[in-house]
Amino acid sequence: MKSVTVVGASLAGVAAARALRDQGFDGRITMIGDEVHLPYDRPPLSKSFLLGDESGLGLDIDGLDVEWRLGCAATALSGTTVSTASGEISADAVVIATGAAACRLPGTVGIDGIHVLRSLDNARALRSSLTSGVRVTVVGAGFIGSEVASTAVGLGASVTVVEASKTPLARVFGSELGSLIAGWHRSAGAELLTGVSVAGFVVEAGRVRAVELADGSMIESDVVVLGVGSVPNVGWLDGSGLDIHGGVVTDQRGITANPAVVAVGDCAAVRDATGMIRRDEHWTSAATRPAVAVEALLTGGSKEFTGLPYVWSDQYAARIQFAGHHGPDCTADIVEGDPTTGPFVAVYRHNDRPVAVLAVSSPRSFGKWRRQVVDTSTLMT
Ligand SMILES: Cc1cc2nc3c(=O)[nH]c(=O)nc-3n(C[C@H](O)[C@H](O)[C@H](O)COP(=O)(O)OP(=O)(O)OC[C@H]3O[C@@H](n4cnc5c(N)ncnc54)[C@H](O)[C@@H]3O)c2cc1C
Repeated sequence: MKSVTVVGASLAGVAAARALRDQGFDGRITMIGDEVHLPYDRPPLSKSFLLGDESGLGLDIDGLDVEWRLGCAATALSGTTVSTASGEISADAVVIATGAAACRLPGTVGIDGIHVLRSLDNARALRSSLTSGVRVTVVGAGFIGSEVASTAVGLGASVTVVEASKTPLARVFGSELGSLIAGWHRSAGAELLTGVSVAGFVVEAGRVRAVELADGSMIESDVVVLGVGSVPNVGWLDGSGLDIHGGVVTDQRGITANPAVVAVGDCAAVRDATGMIRRDEHWTSAATRPAVAVEALLTGGSKEFTGLPYVWSDQYAARIQFAGHHGPDCTADIVEGDPTTGPFVAVYRHNDRPVAVLAVSSPRSFGKWRRQVVDTSTLMT
């Protein structure tokens, strides 16, 4: 193999380029990214960056020896030839690492004061409007919405969080623990409205003035942040012949329907041993799966990725850590601490087997329990 094109110049793309070099590939690597910035890390964007700290944002690209094509979107893929506005790039293999885009609500594009948070440019725009006393409405109490709310409260903003489901974070942590963690908004001084959806926005002279809820009530708002999920960036793959099913479908190595093409990071939808297709949108998957995918590309080997999905989140001075898979048929028990007063650890069990662990501000205990968790994605029954 003499040449590889990596599409998406961010965490998973850089990890793939690093793995290629670490595994002895000395051919040409072309890295295509539609953003003009050199690769940067996204987790700080909803945390320290909004507080004014720009340190530690850049990803390590020393020694990668890649040809950069930044500010250049891939528009199509045919075999292993990638099309861009400035021409075609052919290679022996392709790594797809185009991540995901923040969802918007209908009619919100181009309205001043309404933000999403996915990119550095998004974060810069949001940061400049988060000042003390500003009225911020966050739509969605998931990780990104909750982190923005927490940061905005810290900056002295008046914050309302609107969440459509009755029990926020239930899908991630289960309803009881999800509600408990979402309740931090209230104890920190933000207002949390649950079980109510957004019906529309009051806009004057192109600027948002209020959020209208489905129950008819209005929340006067200077700033609105939409934290309503993300969609994988796979539109450019229409007509590529790859299997697209809520992301680019891969096997557990990262190989797509074309053996010379792998997909990694937030855009990849991995079929596990149980046949279930999952898209992990977490930093650790995007950073670690590419090494396995690259090995499969270079050697054709059968080594599969093993490792539990892991996510962390920083909210209201607490660190949340979660690893594993859980479903409605699991039970969750507090095994350490007291969730009503401070740090705690909860273990989720299925048929008495620990299948997931949640820890709040308890990193050591988290590590201990995480080693005991059984990876249900590798179990056929
Ligand atoms: C604000 C924020 C906070 C986060 N905090 C946490 C956290 O605390 N913990 C955690 O575990 N995870 C967190 N995450 C998730 C984590 O950052 C992502 O899982 C990770 O960035 C995924 O990396 P990726 O390279 O797959 O995708 P991305 O980082 O999305 O990068 C994809 C790149 O491809 C580019 N691209 C898209 N389409 C094209 C195209 N057609 N041609 C060329 N380039 C293209 C995109 O513009 C982007 O630069 C956070 C994410 C965000 C946005």
